[in-house]
Amino acid sequence: MVSAVSLPEWYLGVGCCGRKRQNVINQFSSIAGDARVSFLGNVLVGRDVDVNELRALHHAVVLAYGAESDRRLDIPGEDGSPGAGVFSAREFVWWYNGHPDARHLPIDLSKVRSVAICGIGNVALDCARALLAPPLRFVPTDLAAHALAQLTGDHQTGGGSAVREVHLVARRGPVQAACTPKELKELLTDCGVSARTATPDQLTVSEADSAEMKATRLKRRVFELVSKAVGEASAADAATAAGDRSSPQRRRDLFFQFYRNPVEVLRGPGGAVTGLRVERTAVRPDGPGGTSVAVGSGVFDTIPCDMVLKSIGYKSLPVQGVAFDCRRGVIPNVAGRVLQQTNATASSAASGSTSGSGGGGKGGVPAADVGLYVVGWLKRGPTGIIGTNLVDAEETVDSLAGDAEALLRAGEMSHGSAGPPGAAGLEALLRQRGVRVVGWRRWRLLDEHELAAGRAAGRVREKVTEVREMLRICGFAVE
Ligand code: NAP
Repeated sequence: MVSAVSLPEWYLGVGCCGRKRQNVINQFSSIAGDARVSFLGNVLVGRDVDVNELRALHHAVVLAYGAESDRRLDIPGEDGSPGAGVFSAREFVWWYNGHPDARHLPIDLSKVRSVAICGIGNVALDCARALLAPPLRFVPTDLAAHALAQLTGDHQTGGGSAVREVHLVARRGPVQAACTPKELKELLTDCGVSARTATPDQLTVSEADSAEMKATRLKRRVFELVSKAVGEASAADAATAAGDRSSPQRRRDLFFQFYRNPVEVLRGPGGAVTGLRVERTAVRPDGPGGTSVAVGSGVFDTIPCDMVLKSIGYKSLPVQGVAFDCRRGVIPNVAGRVLQQTNATASSAASGSTSGSGGGGKGGVPAADVGLYVVGWLKRGPTGIIGTNLVDAEETVDSLAGDAEALLRAGEMSHGSAGPPGAAGLEALLRQRGVRVVGWRRWRLLDEHELAAGRAAGRVREKVTEVREMLRICGFAVE
């Protein structure tokens, strides 16, 4: 198990927090600690070792590096100078989860009152929850200390997050929202927010919407949850206006901005974000196979905000020497068996050769690149939850198991009866290159350090977020 980050749990990616996250960490720990598994953290494929070297050392290689980049909006103002208030949701999630690469993102929530989040998938809801939930709720969790300090402020300086409103900007309507009811309910009921729509007509449903809700229970449920939350907030507003002091006082607003397509990030003279310009849309069945798409109306609005988060989907990146479908952002495969490179799928990062015959397979589909497999978002695109990835991984493992005999024979042919050197050979190569590999025993030192620091602070875990500090705790000499 080769990981760029020293922590196996970083394989989790997004969408996982609290108890669920801890369960997955426990699962990873028990696998990585198994005597038959070698965990090699702080090893970056492409920098410390390349895929062809990994393949030469093992019978098979499974690529499971997910999606570590982001789709772009491609609108004016999206790219300001660094720190100018526009981040991808992935960066923001990495920031609050303590990923070392996002530790120093220039985020200052004490200066942000209003946030526009583009997209209404579950990642958008995760970001909204982090911004809107009562900050003290995060104290016992493993949220990164720098994010917690920004949310809660500190005793000396006061401060804390100034965020009072979050706008979820969706280019289609509530019935087409990409999020799921369970996650939406958590945001609407647990965070103490007042839910509002940008205009009163946003919850009007068309005949097509009604048909869609009839056909899909989850879509109906999402619509019901939004309607109920918006109805309750306006009833509470009316009661307060009528002098009823018993109606719940909510400090933060969640605005659903349905039928709004982002067209420009507006910036002030110093480059700071001042708003998001959106075009009103209508939903029409003009997509492939009659699917609904957002069509612009030529009417524009401005959502005032100080920070924009782009939550419109993740993107996988190619790796040298492996086919890559740039359009779909996946490694081309059949049931997890990676296909050989063709002119169309030779990744821009690719320069190495691939194994196998180099010719096409049956029916124009390239042949499998023998001994190379793929799982997860890298295999099928950035959709689906942990359960989806389990099923997906089982398919790849079935393919690998089906090929096992042939792979063992090929290993004997090239390396003799002992087969390829495997982890021992890889560790020797990395040692020779001076790579500071965080193996399982070293990782346990880091894990114990984080858990002890967490206990002392009354938290599940206090994460270390600087690579140098991680390496020091893992027993390496760092200058
Ligand atoms: P997603 O579910 O695909 O949602 C992407 C959102 O971005 C959609 O609302 C989409 O709108 C919008 N969008 C895409 N391109 C756009 C553009 N150019 N302009 C404006 N809006 C655009 O992606 P995600 O939220 O990143 O989630 C990825 C996967 O992880 C999902 O399967 C999700 O369920 C899963 N996940 C699960 C959990 C959990 O279970 N707790 C947590 C996090 C993530 P359209 O629908 O109109 O295209």
